[in-house]
Amino acid sequence: MKTFTFLIGLSLCCKFSVYSRKIIDLSYDFGPKSISWPGNPPFNLSHLLIGKQPGGFWLEKNWFSSNEHRGTHIDAPAHFYFGSLHIHQIPLDNLIGPGIVIRATKEANENNDFVMNKDFILNWEAENGQIPHGAIILLDFDWARRYLTFDENIIFGTKTVNDVSSYHYPGIGPDAMTYLVKEKHIKAIGTDATSPDAGQAVDFPSHRICGRYNTTIIENVANLASMPIKGSTVFLAAIKLKGGSGVPARVFAILDDDSCNMAATNIMSSSLLTIMIVFSIVNYFSGIL
Ligand SMILES: [Zn+2]
Repeated sequence: MKTFTFLIGLSLCCKFSVYSRKIIDLSYDFGPKSISWPGNPPFNLSHLLIGKQPGGFWLEKNWFSSNEHRGTHIDAPAHFYFGSLHIHQIPLDNLIGPGIVIRATKEANENNDFVMNKDFILNWEAENGQIPHGAIILLDFDWARRYLTFDENIIFGTKTVNDVSSYHYPGIGPDAMTYLVKEKHIKAIGTDATSPDAGQAVDFPSHRICGRYNTTIIENVANLASMPIKGSTVFLAAIKLKGGSGVPARVFAILDDDSCNMAATNIMSSSLLTIMIVFSIVNYFSGIL
């Protein structure tokens, strides 16, 4: 019986570890420590009701308030361009797309003011293949390490966080942004830093280009180090905030390869489980006989 239990446990462990690899969460927890551009009112989460009710059941419900642009969130095109789409107007199709991760971790670590230009993107394509139309681009600057300190000075690269002209963090330049929206027709661009415009780009050129071409922006993206450069589908799961200029989002990716592997491994895992059960039952009864 011990063998039987062990083998079933082993098989189930294999099955669930496969599931845990399939989806990558690209969002940070949303709460009071979530990073936001300085000057916003504080995040609030308060209990409206919590505790055991007279009927004997548990009930908990809360009220929260937050600015739109906090933590992992999307920017609507209307954020920086008059007349463009607000959050509720973004077509669902624009919130799902093939994930393309462009890494510049070395460059950003060597130079906090690194600005990705068009040549950098063209070199990436020469090495990794063409960026597909309709992609969701994710820029990996290794800024997650900084985000997880929850220290505004470290994240914004400054010693005076209330002085926006003192910010030093990496971004993407207007030539590269124009190339991506006009020639690659990307659906969205995300960054693990706080903005696709570098800290020193104080007039936000890439924000404005995205706004003009109705391209969604994702800021403070998590876990990019776990992402393959391609071979995923990215989902921007944001509430349909009427008139919103931005909104916190649960961003995640499903890996193409893992999906295939998962299907195959699940079949193997199910078959393995069946074989193990049969083997264990036979083994158990042969012991009795
Ligand atoms: Zn924003």
